[in-house]
Amino acid sequence: MEERTGTIVKVAGPLVIAEDIPGAKMYEMVYVSNKRLFGEIIEIKGNLSSIQVYEDTSGIGPGDPVFSTGMPLSVELGPGMIGSIYDGVQRPLDVLKEKYGDFIVRGSYEPALNRTKKWHFKPLVNKGDEVVQGDVLGEVQETLAITHRILVPVGISGKVKEIVKEGDYVVEDVIAKIETGNGTKEVKMYQKWPVRIGRPYLKKLPPVRPLITGQRVIDAFFPIAKGGTACVPGPFGSGKTVIQHQLSKWSDADIIIFIGCGERGNEMTDVLTEFPELKDPRSGRPLMERTILIANTSNMPVAAREASVFTGITMGEYFRDMGYSVALMADSTSRWAEAMREMSGRLEEMPGEEGYPAYLASRISSFYERAGRVIVLGSKEKEATLSVIGAVSPPGGDLSDPVVQATLRTVRVFWSLDAQLAYARHFPSIHWLRSYSLYADSLADFYRKEMGEDWIDMRKEAMRILRREAELQEMVRLVGIDALSSSDRLTMEIARSIREDFLQQNAFMEEDTFTSLKKQYRMMKLIHLFYEYAKEALEKGVDLDKIVELPVRVDISRAKLIPEDNLEKFDEIEKKMQEEFDSLIKEVQYG
Ligand code: ADP
Repeated sequence: MEERTGTIVKVAGPLVIAEDIPGAKMYEMVYVSNKRLFGEIIEIKGNLSSIQVYEDTSGIGPGDPVFSTGMPLSVELGPGMIGSIYDGVQRPLDVLKEKYGDFIVRGSYEPALNRTKKWHFKPLVNKGDEVVQGDVLGEVQETLAITHRILVPVGISGKVKEIVKEGDYVVEDVIAKIETGNGTKEVKMYQKWPVRIGRPYLKKLPPVRPLITGQRVIDAFFPIAKGGTACVPGPFGSGKTVIQHQLSKWSDADIIIFIGCGERGNEMTDVLTEFPELKDPRSGRPLMERTILIANTSNMPVAAREASVFTGITMGEYFRDMGYSVALMADSTSRWAEAMREMSGRLEEMPGEEGYPAYLASRISSFYERAGRVIVLGSKEKEATLSVIGAVSPPGGDLSDPVVQATLRTVRVFWSLDAQLAYARHFPSIHWLRSYSLYADSLADFYRKEMGEDWIDMRKEAMRILRREAELQEMVRLVGIDALSSSDRLTMEIARSIREDFLQQNAFMEEDTFTSLKKQYRMMKLIHLFYEYAKEALEKGVDLDKIVELPVRVDISRAKLIPEDNLEKFDEIEKKMQEEFDSLIKEVQYG
């Protein structure tokens, strides 16, 4: 097929302007110059197309050709994605690295999915079956952890005319033919999808289950729903990397997609070196067996960050469509926003706040809106979720930054990592007074059932105590601790216990790194019971100092180290607590 071409008239960094691209369409993918650099048309004015180029444009100039493809920027979806490391335009970095070494040559191309690797395909339909879009035609055991379901592509329904026998096939092999009202369609093990268009589903559902992370401050106080969205700002050194690793390792999601929009250089290489080392704590196998990494190399222009974000979310939707629960993390979306600002400046668009384009907020929400809990396409009703967690890195940690604000308008959870807490070695440094989760109410039923009827009240009380602590601390600063009543001083003790014995969690300690919901409940209950007993004892005239010094407090502080399979230990501690309080009260009553 002869390629249609246009001609470059101007090159400004990653922005190339070309004239007379035949049939140019918005978001069409094009190849720029004979070097065939990846680009995407992002503006059309008359016969001029502005192209965002995802590779370094130096040496490209006016007069060079632009080849149109007639296709929007798309990704390949099929077996071979899991465990891969892709760049923003889905070039397999691991494969390219083997071929070209560390520095990837411009215009180098390698298909996203290996064309020669054989996959063992097991058909799950028979000749003559009626199928609709989204139905499972068969499956491939892609890794030990993930069964890759081969779906009837979107837009195809009809009768299975042919289906291959169980056996080994490459992704280009036709594994089924489907007779539709519109002719016979061949189905391969992979399909393509335009990244800027959300993959369809049958119905969006309200979130009802939390994504369980085993991180107490998140699960107990600021939960994210499965299918929900969260934002985490991370000043340098605040523990952003550790929290992202913890979420990747421990979240009860089937598949993890990690997008590093990163700074050039080190931040990205960290991801590339650290992630493949991580172990899946549940199976002991490499975490990469259920992970896809997307990372831009340092010689790609910032514009590629935008492609990464949409490439990643499209992959997430694809696995969701198989019925999986997917968790996607993007770090850092501020870098993506900066890329938007740069392109917008070059396009000479009217700038909005701080030079960001006026469409900043709508572009950001077009990404987060693709998260959700849905009924996926297909004739069997199947539920699946795609949860999205985006890190932001505002300059100077300033939360009034336009990117943070635009993100907060669309996401429903905010984990505010706090530099001061991190400095004080309180980890995770998620600030309990500044963070929030708008899912708390819709998940309340789940928590009541899973943790206990009194959980919601206990959690609310704990939050109340922490808020009260902040007020009391202010008073102490003004008038000194001695001016506080015993009951206020007790509140401060309990607040400290909530912070230190419950919220602080050491990611590097085996017993502490993950806490089940059951154990979280028992831990919180200990603190709650102590508070109840202590209030009663105070009323009966026990001295606060004696309460504070009770030996059982040591047990409370060590409760986080109780192994998950030994939760009966909590019964013993509760009993001990009761005995110690009983004897304190006896002391004042009988002298
Ligand atoms: P950032 O990525 O925000 O710069 P890191 O995630 O690398 O910061 O965290 C900095 C340091 O803080 C880590 O090396 C570790 O010592 C400590 N840290 C962070 N989170 C935790 C945690 N949950 N438990 C224990 N230590 C932590």
